[in-house]
Amino acid sequence: MNTESRDFLFRYLNNSSPTGYEQSGQQIWLDYIKPFTDSYFTDVYGTAVAVINPGAKYKVVIEAHADEIGWTVHYITDEGYIYVKQNGGSDALIAPSMRVNIYTDKGIVKGVFGWPAIHVRERGKADTMPDIDTIFLDVGATSKTEVEELGIHVGCVATFEDELIDLNDKFWTGRALDNRIGGFMIAEVARKLFENKDKLEFGLYIVNAVQEEVGLNGAMMISRTIEADVAIVTDVCHDTASPMYNKIKQSDVRCGRGPSLTYAPAVQNNLLKHIISAAEEHKIPFQRLASSRTTGTDTDAFAYSGKGTASALISIPLKYMHTTVETASKKDVENVIELIYQSVISLKADTDFRYIK
Ligand SMILES: [Zn+2]
Repeated sequence: MNTESRDFLFRYLNNSSPTGYEQSGQQIWLDYIKPFTDSYFTDVYGTAVAVINPGAKYKVVIEAHADEIGWTVHYITDEGYIYVKQNGGSDALIAPSMRVNIYTDKGIVKGVFGWPAIHVRERGKADTMPDIDTIFLDVGATSKTEVEELGIHVGCVATFEDELIDLNDKFWTGRALDNRIGGFMIAEVARKLFENKDKLEFGLYIVNAVQEEVGLNGAMMISRTIEADVAIVTDVCHDTASPMYNKIKQSDVRCGRGPSLTYAPAVQNNLLKHIISAAEEHKIPFQRLASSRTTGTDTDAFAYSGKGTASALISIPLKYMHTTVETASKKDVENVIELIYQSVISLKADTDFRYIK
């Protein structure tokens, strides 16, 4: 990976983009992708779209989501402790003893999730498990007024402060790889198309959608604006090889074995076949995953938008989803970029994906 891409990856991943507050991440993403594309637009909730061939009638989307999970301040006690609600699927179990950044109009305020000492708890089976009603933030204040003077109020959003690291040179580990690694990968597809001077016969819409973590909302909105013919979505899926996963329940998918292709009614099979032949032709390894009904990703929003859009999902296996040590294989990142790229350049404008004609 060249230094420009690596710099972008770290800048983009280390920035915070909690659901509903994705603007700073979107700006970093747009600044990186603009030179590789012809134009861009954004919508009122912050979804960003960079476009190649904006005038073309046939429209192809490649998409990732821009937001990350976090916490929202909802109750400040008279003693200055802060209780939170989940912003997305944040995991209370991992919160105690973690450090957070709380975003206020006065800038970032540091906080910590405190927890009673091991010595004073009822240990063994009766030990208290942290949950959303018991975890609390300490910002070093001793009264509600002092908390408010720091700029913190009900509605302020916080994220863990953990940043991206290399793990044994083979992995990247950090916060919010779900799904800013996706935003990184679709931007790299645009860079590749630009550097290889590829000519596309259709409009390519590179979409970084907001608010996926609370219900595919950004994708739902932007799919109606673009009215695409084809959508290839990328998101994370679970690596199930590490301890305590259950392959019978959660499938057999592993980091390092390549992109995961999902089978589900929401996935259009002729588009999926096109992606599989691109993988086979270019010897890109891939894995298979089955979902019942929907995929739980933005794929569903595109598939079922308007009159229906041929949609497919290319996922990257991820260890420890929704923790601060989300871990993905560098080789898989390269292979997802390559598979999206090869699937896009081999697409013909006006391809009719219908099963029966
Ligand atoms: Zn997620």
